[in-house]
Amino acid sequence: MELRCAAIVVGADGMCSAVRQQLFPEAQLRYSGQSSCRAIVESPLPSTLERRGWEVWGNGCRFGVSSVGHGEVYSYATFDAPQSGQDAPSERVAWLRQMVADFPAPLPELVAATPEERILRTDMYDLRPLPAWHRGRVALLGDAAHATTPNLGQGGAQAIEDAYVSAENLATQATVEAAFTAYERIRRGKADHVVSRSRQLGKVVHIGNPVIRRLRNTLLRNIPASLNQRQLDTLYTLNY
Ligand SMILES: Cc1cc2nc3c(=O)[nH]c(=O)nc-3n(C[C@H](O)[C@H](O)[C@H](O)COP(=O)(O)OP(=O)(O)OC[C@H]3O[C@@H](n4cnc5c(N)ncnc54)[C@H](O)[C@@H]3O)c2cc1C
Repeated sequence: MELRCAAIVVGADGMCSAVRQQLFPEAQLRYSGQSSCRAIVESPLPSTLERRGWEVWGNGCRFGVSSVGHGEVYSYATFDAPQSGQDAPSERVAWLRQMVADFPAPLPELVAATPEERILRTDMYDLRPLPAWHRGRVALLGDAAHATTPNLGQGGAQAIEDAYVSAENLATQATVEAAFTAYERIRRGKADHVVSRSRQLGKVVHIGNPVIRRLRNTLLRNIPASLNQRQLDTLYTLNY
């Protein structure tokens, strides 16, 4: 049998990447202290929420909804929880109902209309920044390189940006090593920023102390629109 070496290897194998384990065995996932439940159900939102993402922040938890078209709604809850917590689906529904009982309509109604078998539970992790995203002809991409908590809704988006930049550099640079070096140089700052902002946001959203929560809410209400826009520009501007 003839054995051939791959010209390149791209490890796009997600948060628990086996390729990353080979390159950087010391890499560590960090539990955020928060778990999540998600579901998609057929349940149209009121017209005021149809084209918006909407979140309600509570004490150590939050609940969000977003229409995903065809009369379906994506909903998610995040909550403080020990790592690898287990619960039966019926228990999960019961405490989700309790969690949103005082939240505004239509959240309690939405949870009541969600069948327990539709609810997925996932603990939220991110990856401590790696010393590098590539070694020789092997590179990491997406969650394998920079897994983030989902608080900014950016993990998938960042993986797509990685794919574009790495492909473009592989097509234009003289060597694979030069291409992977350029890919990391271009993408690293933004991806690291997303990981750290997302982790911070998760903590700010879940603040339990009522005094600090009121202070947070006042500060957030008074943030100038221009500053909000600058932060969004950092996420949505493509620097390549
Ligand atoms: C609760 C939650 C909510 C999220 N919400 C958002 C959001 O709103 N917006 C957003 O942009 N992102 C969101 N994300 C993040 C997003 O899902 C990930 O960042 C994104 O899927 C990463 O893409 P990836 O291709 O790097 O990895 P993955 O999507 O994990 O793909 C990796 C693939 O590699 C395969 N694989 C793994 N190991 C092997 C192996 N040994 N051999 C062969 N194949 C293998 C897997 O089966 C999988 O198909 C969320 C994540 C979570 C957990």
